[in-house]
Amino acid sequence: MPLVDPRNRIIDYLRVSVTDRCNLSCAYCKPRSGMRLLSHGDVLRYEEIHRLVTVAATLGISHVRITGGEPLVRRDLLPFLASLRPVPGITDISITTNGLLLEEMAEGLRDAGICRLNISLDSLKPARFAGITGSDEWGRVWRGIEKAETCGFAPIKINMVPVRGVNDDEIVDFARLTLDRQFHVRFIELMPIGAHDRWDTDSCVSSEEARRAIEEVLGPLEPASDATGAGPARNFRLAGGRGVIGFISPITKHFCESCRRLRLTADGRIRPCLLSDTEIDVKSPMRGGCGDEELVRLLQLALQVKPERHYLAEAPGACFERTMSKIGG
Ligand code: SAM
Repeated sequence: MPLVDPRNRIIDYLRVSVTDRCNLSCAYCKPRSGMRLLSHGDVLRYEEIHRLVTVAATLGISHVRITGGEPLVRRDLLPFLASLRPVPGITDISITTNGLLLEEMAEGLRDAGICRLNISLDSLKPARFAGITGSDEWGRVWRGIEKAETCGFAPIKINMVPVRGVNDDEIVDFARLTLDRQFHVRFIELMPIGAHDRWDTDSCVSSEEARRAIEEVLGPLEPASDATGAGPARNFRLAGGRGVIGFISPITKHFCESCRRLRLTADGRIRPCLLSDTEIDVKSPMRGGCGDEELVRLLQLALQVKPERHYLAEAPGACFERTMSKIGG
């Protein structure tokens, strides 16, 4: 039986943040100050996440994406991932990572049953990467991407957030990667989340602008029919290109009417919509000894309060307090 919300959206996808910690400090993601990390005891334990996923799967969740913070920094991640594979009803486990630890972990991720990998990368220039992330290890990320390719992950999705005046001059270079590699390069519009001390409406490069920039240099984009995943990207291909170019446009062309997601935050709250602060605490009931029927009730409640859509157009300049790393980006 699928899980259906009051607006007839089928909800089958749970994004799980396993940690709020990250080994990078991306300028648009982390606030410059006041970022308090969760204490160890506040973060959901693996067995609590496993229980929640198992209950959610009985209701119709079939896809789980592991994220963070940086998921690969959490200790004992691989055995936890392997423990999700046999959960009845879960058919797809994927992960979003910054790639810094991928070189050493790609094989383990594959063996643990990870089906798909998304890698976040905002620059192809090592010095600029350092400026954005605070790390001079661009080469390590790139080696991680190549290792993932040789381990058989396909397609490899590379997510880039263009920020005006920071890395928007690299949009074409990222698109060019799809000419002779099977990468799916996706351009994601910057959202007003997290680094609210740095958010500025003009920093967001719209998907239309990104598309125009690509087409001006590399020619027209053709709709791609064979892109995998039922996600929010609109997918295209360059003539003769082996890979796919996707645009994810939460700001200029929201996809709320087809949203299939719930999120589980690192501190144990179900967040029905990324761009709404409404959350339902599942950690306290679990730690208080609740039965699975209470978790079912809370998951169904999350569906009832899932907003119809986000309201950023009506509230330009609005900014969400919780960082992506706590919510589960
Ligand atoms: N550490 C992992 C990674 O880098 O992929 C997972 C967590 S990270 C928060 C997930 C994604 O959120 C990254 O692709 C990052 O670029 C994106 N992100 C963070 N803040 C964002 C914002 N304000 N707008 C759009 N995307 C954002």
